[in-house]
Amino acid sequence: MPLSLSKASQFVKIVSLLKPLLSWYQPSYVCGPPTSLPLKFHDFLRLALDLNDKEIKQAWSDLGNDAWAQEMPAVEELSARTKYMAVFLQHGLSRDIGVFSLEPLSRTCIDSACAQQLCADPSQLRDKELVEPLTVKITVYTKEFGSVPRFSTSRYCRHCHTRYHPNYYVHSDATLQTYYRDNLRYLQISGHCYVDINLCELFSIMMVTSCVPPPHQITL
Ligand SMILES: [Zn+2]
Repeated sequence: MPLSLSKASQFVKIVSLLKPLLSWYQPSYVCGPPTSLPLKFHDFLRLALDLNDKEIKQAWSDLGNDAWAQEMPAVEELSARTKYMAVFLQHGLSRDIGVFSLEPLSRTCIDSACAQQLCADPSQLRDKELVEPLTVKITVYTKEFGSVPRFSTSRYCRHCHTRYHPNYYVHSDATLQTYYRDNLRYLQISGHCYVDINLCELFSIMMVTSCVPPPHQITL
């Protein structure tokens, strides 16, 4: 039996939130959804939506492509994360599924020297996939939700022996961490703590405005 409209809508919304995590379960050059849900995501959705195994499998078969194709605007995504925060905390944390999960910015090694020739067409190169994920529990401080428990995952390039973290990458033998220049959403402030850049900006504005003298002290 197909899901009710309400359950189907919830399924699509939650899968959209899970898409960044689910994407790591297939090669970077595959754009569509996985053919079946990894077990921990299957269990998470089953508990989150109070459905049985058969209903989740059927929902993934019927709605997986549509859910995968959905691009939520930032405001809608924030609304969905707020709505399903309790569900992620209750059923996700024990399965390493966070409200947000921090991953390397790239799914492949950024060193072009690591790219490999395709067997079918040696004139074409394919970037080296990152593997060997290491996941740790972290706390992220956000403007919208306060402190939230989440997960941070680093991944490894077996060709150049570089491990990519959410904020930086480092070679196995190196003592220096190289930080990404762009697209950082969370800043690592200690081993297991990150701060949302929106919160950093809020603190910056508050510090600047607190230094402005009151109007009666301004000399024109
Ligand atoms: Zn590499």
